[in-house]
Amino acid sequence: MSQTDDDLDAALTTVADARGRIAARSRKGDVVSLVIEAGGLAAPARAALERQIRAALVAVQGVRDVRIAMTEDKPVRTVIAIGSGKGGVGKSTVSANLAIALARAGRKVGLVDADIYGPSQPRIMGSHERPEMVEKTIQPVSAWGIRMLSIGQLVEAGSALAWRGPMAASALGQLMDADWGDADTIVVDLPPGTGDIQLSLVQKWKPAGAVIVSTPQDLALIDATRAIDLFRKMDVPLIGLVENMAGYQCPHCGELSDPFGSGGAEAAAKVMGVPFLGRIPLTLTLRRASDAGAPPAAGEGEEAELFAALAAKLLEQIAAR
Ligand code: ADP
Repeated sequence: MSQTDDDLDAALTTVADARGRIAARSRKGDVVSLVIEAGGLAAPARAALERQIRAALVAVQGVRDVRIAMTEDKPVRTVIAIGSGKGGVGKSTVSANLAIALARAGRKVGLVDADIYGPSQPRIMGSHERPEMVEKTIQPVSAWGIRMLSIGQLVEAGSALAWRGPMAASALGQLMDADWGDADTIVVDLPPGTGDIQLSLVQKWKPAGAVIVSTPQDLALIDATRAIDLFRKMDVPLIGLVENMAGYQCPHCGELSDPFGSGGAEAAAKVMGVPFLGRIPLTLTLRRASDAGAPPAAGEGEEAELFAALAAKLLEQIAAR
């Protein structure tokens, strides 16, 4: 080893995180070439690492040029689609809280709000930042221990309503191909029903499974059945059915009553041969929390426990496949 090589070694030790990532290094005269493994690093961290390494090495005597190649191993991600037969059944509320519960269970989670008809994740998550672009890739925003992107952050409210086919698919592509860093699980809050976004998601991003949210009422369940049929036809495994707004919990005494009935979704799940993931009651806490941008799954209390149980069941179902 020459003095220059020793100096290069010494220079690299000054850059935190550099040593373990050097896949190859060579020197030809005064030109140093490096291959850096940048897997799992988000774009800003990758750029910063490259800058620091370059600065450290060009400062070494005898070095005129530094060539750096960053490799990127694409992480394997589990995509979970959250659908519903119709709007207003709490699909977005369940998606957000489930995503947070999955993160608390140890997953690295990204949440994609692909509901072009009513993107509500910025409100539910209380996150109104605009995502930044770095190297032509959107940077998801961070909130409550997960990363999130919503179609509502990219376009004005209402302007996505008339999107069909290619427009919808391209918007979904921007969200799915964003810089999710080391996220291992992407939860996708789909529009209600069965449309272009569902088709593109299934064709291009192959979800590991779908969760269907329904209220206990018969009409909502008939719609949910249609959504289930669609995923079945496209060979997407059904992780399970969640019954939301199942019974009303009195904010004063905690007693559960059943103004719309409950248990309908569990019975329907059985008939359709779909796992039943759990039941979330209609509570004032959940409604207020969603409006206030403070998802209860991130805190302590009954709702947090319900979503933790839902997340555990979901992980069980995925592991069993
Ligand atoms: P969707 O995504 O199916 O259209 P949302 O998640 O936006 O439905 O929920 C519709 C409304 O119902 C929101 O105001 C939300 O806060 C409320 N909501 C959803 N689930 C519950 C629940 N379990 N208890 C109380 N309110 C709920």
